[in-house]
Amino acid sequence: MEDFVMTLRRWYAENKRDLPWRNTPDPYYIWLSEIILQQTRVNQGLPYYLKFIENFPDVSSLASASEDQVLKLWQGLGYYSRARNLHHAAKQIVNFHEGKFPGKYDEILALKGIGDYTAAAIASFAFGQPYPVVDGNVFRFLARFSGNQTSIDTTTGKKEFSRLALELLDREDPGNHNQAMMEIGATVCLPVNPRCSLCPFQGGCVAFQEDQIEMLPLRTKKTNIRHRYLHYLVYLDGDHTWIRKRSGKDIWTGLYEFPLIETESNVIIDRNAIGLHAEVRFDISKEYRHILSHQKLITRFYIIDSAPDPSMKEKGYFSVQTCDLVHFAMPQLLVKFLRHDPVSPVLTATVNN
Ligand code: SF4
Repeated sequence: MEDFVMTLRRWYAENKRDLPWRNTPDPYYIWLSEIILQQTRVNQGLPYYLKFIENFPDVSSLASASEDQVLKLWQGLGYYSRARNLHHAAKQIVNFHEGKFPGKYDEILALKGIGDYTAAAIASFAFGQPYPVVDGNVFRFLARFSGNQTSIDTTTGKKEFSRLALELLDREDPGNHNQAMMEIGATVCLPVNPRCSLCPFQGGCVAFQEDQIEMLPLRTKKTNIRHRYLHYLVYLDGDHTWIRKRSGKDIWTGLYEFPLIETESNVIIDRNAIGLHAEVRFDISKEYRHILSHQKLITRFYIIDSAPDPSMKEKGYFSVQTCDLVHFAMPQLLVKFLRHDPVSPVLTATVNN
């Protein structure tokens, strides 16, 4: 084990990327970076991290922001529950820990949106506590290095790999050790075409020695992708349009959207189906496809030069000036439509300004 620790230490000292959250022991910054980087590549997450620390330099400023402000800043990053949980947890820290980030693992784990992995990252990076961090990159590295053929998405697999990570942990410097494990998984032991010739563990790597790199790590579950067919009605009511805030437990909770019709299959909505007279402009956009982790959204936008039926208000929709749309956090799919679709020049100009 000592060899492993020393090899990793040396490799990390020579190869670590200089990322802003690595130069601070502040748990707030570490927490922000960890939440932003879940399901997100470093290049994509970095500008969001910088925007967040500029707008919310500490836990209290994040806690006192409105949910709309937080979601607007998060717009485009996806998995919006991360932003809502972040906001909620900031309030927990203010209300239950006097605004000071808790230092005990169990207290960190009790914060909304923080699981074992993030709690271990914060406890080790910020407080030097000996908890191993096992993210997707570390699972892959450990499976190949040890040749363990237990599926990483099973309870047994999670336990076995966590145990191995704990055995390998550098107890003198768990924070840097964990960062190094994540770094080697992210930059050397890549999912496809790992850079084994640059890997300091090549000699002891079971997958490399036994030609099993491509089959490890093993997984059992297949992800079922649900197809959804969304039709957005973009009413151009003079210089106003209609939107609502999404609620409930579906995707995009807390974000704003145009009046929506969802269908079971890929049909095109007819003007008669929404009670439009023949003379009212009714343009249909191209089909937009948007992939989420478990869903594929097939979407069309319908541009309607008219006010909607007054019953729209009962469904939570309200009228806003098109020039104010830019202030509302919207799903990236809608932003993409507003930016690019030539059938909506008024809206395109609004968002691009
Ligand atoms: Fe991964 Fe290759 Fe290193 Fe093995 S030798 S740990 S497969 S990069």
